[in-house]
Amino acid sequence: MVVFDLDDTLYEYAPCDAAGKAALFRFAAEELGVMSPAFEQAYAQARVNVKKRLGPTASSHSRLLYCHEAMELVGLRSEPHVALVMEQEYWRNYMLAMELRPGVGDLLQTLRFNDVVTAIVTDLTAQIQFRKLYHLDIAKLIDHVVCSEETALEKASLQPFELLASRVAPDALDCVWFVGDQDFDAPVDALVEKGVIRDGFGFVHGATGQERVQHWNSVREVEDLLERSAGRAA
Ligand SMILES: [Mg+2]
Repeated sequence: MVVFDLDDTLYEYAPCDAAGKAALFRFAAEELGVMSPAFEQAYAQARVNVKKRLGPTASSHSRLLYCHEAMELVGLRSEPHVALVMEQEYWRNYMLAMELRPGVGDLLQTLRFNDVVTAIVTDLTAQIQFRKLYHLDIAKLIDHVVCSEETALEKASLQPFELLASRVAPDALDCVWFVGDQDFDAPVDALVEKGVIRDGFGFVHGATGQERVQHWNSVREVEDLLERSAGRAA
């Protein structure tokens, strides 16, 4: 089985977040009369507040909560419908900017062709993550999706990975590859130790302390290694 992270792994996060925020700040200026940088600062502070209160759980990423809290911070009343419109503005523009990373489509096709089980394990609420998969048009190439909203805690707790393991055939857990951008996207050692998977290998951006996890720059590198190991297994 190959387990992918979604955000900043299958597509690049920064341009999407920038597009979403730009739309949000434009809305605040035009519709609420709150100019940036005042609103921008309020939004940043709201994000910090929400994350601090909620800790590592899916709703700590909720743009609806950030927008709602930001309005409180700039001294506006709680206006639920405005918060909803702002959240929509953010995600609509975010998703319009989303593009699959080069090679992702090919890699998913190759996995499908070789009968390798594919999964996405991702931190955030299901409503948003399912919409992203629809926009990226890759849902049909993914066998299982787990969002951290389905578990109490996020990926760093391993709970979403354990939920995935409970949903797949046992032999899918013999060798699991992980592809992500952060170290906690590929907790190979911890999952082997807990007996959740039998063996595995991971790819993340940046440094990692794990022997079985390596750095990747392009999706092509992952596909090359997969083809080589599939060749060995055949
Ligand atoms: Mg990520």
